[in-house]
Amino acid sequence: MKKRILITGAAGFIGSNLVRSLLKDGRYWVIGFDNFDPFYPRAEKEKNISPFEGDRNFRFYEGDIRHRADLDALDDIDVIVHLAAKAGVRPSIKDPILYQEVNVGGTQNLLEFARRRDIKQFVFASSSSVYGINENVPWSEDDKLMPISPYASSKLSCEMLGHVYSHLYGIRFLALRFFTVYGPGQRPDLAIHKFFKSIINDQPIPVFGDGSTSRDYTYVEDTVKGIEAAISYESSDFEIINLGNHRTITLQDLITSIEASCGKKAVIDRQPEQPGDVPQTYANIHKAQKLLKYHPSTDLKMGLDNFYSWYLKAQDL
Ligand code: NAD
Repeated sequence: MKKRILITGAAGFIGSNLVRSLLKDGRYWVIGFDNFDPFYPRAEKEKNISPFEGDRNFRFYEGDIRHRADLDALDDIDVIVHLAAKAGVRPSIKDPILYQEVNVGGTQNLLEFARRRDIKQFVFASSSSVYGINENVPWSEDDKLMPISPYASSKLSCEMLGHVYSHLYGIRFLALRFFTVYGPGQRPDLAIHKFFKSIINDQPIPVFGDGSTSRDYTYVEDTVKGIEAAISYESSDFEIINLGNHRTITLQDLITSIEASCGKKAVIDRQPEQPGDVPQTYANIHKAQKLLKYHPSTDLKMGLDNFYSWYLKAQDL
C-alpha cells in the first residue's frame, strides 16, 4: 500500500524539494499544505510547486496550520512531515508572539489533528538553533541547549510537545534538527541566496561581524534523504536527530567559495553582529548515520555550483 504523506510548508524551500523527491517513481501519495505566508513572495512559492500540478499522486491544499477547519478538510493521511513555520532568527526577535502562535500553537494544532485522525508518524522540522550558544562543538543530540532567539525557543517547545503526544497517544515523533540548509529554491532571506544575488547584481553584501562566525551548511538533497528515511523509521517512538553535514565553514570562507562559483568578487558591507545569531553551528551526525543511514554526500563546491545554475535559470539570466 502506498503511504499518504502530508507535507506542511510544501510550497516552501525544503518542502518543495521534498515533494519532488517523494513524487519520483510514484512511491507515495503526497498531500501538500501551505498558507503562502508572506515572509517572502507568494509567486516564488507558487513557482516552487508548479511542476507538480497535474501529477496524479499530488494534491495541494491552501490552508493555515493554526486553523482546525483547514486541517479537517484534508484527505486520509499516514505520515505527517511538518515543515510549515515562521522561519528566520532575526525576524523572530521583532515579532516573537507571532512566532510562538504559528510555530508552537500551529504544531500543537497539528498534533491534535494527528491524535483525532489516529495518524501514528509525525516528522518535525527542528533546528540547530536550539543549541544556541553552547560552545562545545560538534553538537550531539543530548548536549546542553542554550537557545538565544524566540525562533530557537519555539522549535525547542515543539520538540517537547512532540514528546508529550508520543508518550500520551503513541504517536511516533521524530524531531530532525536541520543545519543551515541550502540549494535550489533556498529562501531569499538566507545568506547564500542573498550573497549570490547581490554579487551577480554588483551590489554590496551585508556581512554581520568580522566573518569568523561559522555554519555547518547542508545541501537540501541530503536533508531530503534524511527526511525520507524518517518517514519510514519504525524502531522507536521518540527521537531527536541532527541532520547536519558535519563540516563547518566560516562566513569569510563561504564568501570566497561563492566568489569562485560565480567568478566575481564581492563588495563587503561590514555590519555589526546581530542579536540572536549564534557564533557557530556544527553537527555530530553519528545518530543520524546509525538510525537513518544518513550520509550527506554533497560538498560545498558542488552545492554552490548547483545553486548558482538554479538561480540563473530561475531569474532567466
Ligand atoms: P520556507 O519559509 O521556505 O518554508 C516554510 C513554509 O511554511 C512556507 O512555504 C510558508 O508559506 C509555510 N507556512 C508558514 N506559516 C504557515 C502556516 N501558518 N500554515 C501553513 N503554512 C505555513 O522555509 P524552509 O527553509 O523551507 O524551512 C522549512 C522548515 O525547516 C521550517 O520549519 C524551518 O524552521 C525549518 N528549518 C529550516 C532551516 C533552513 O536552513 N532552511 C534550518 C533549520 C530549520
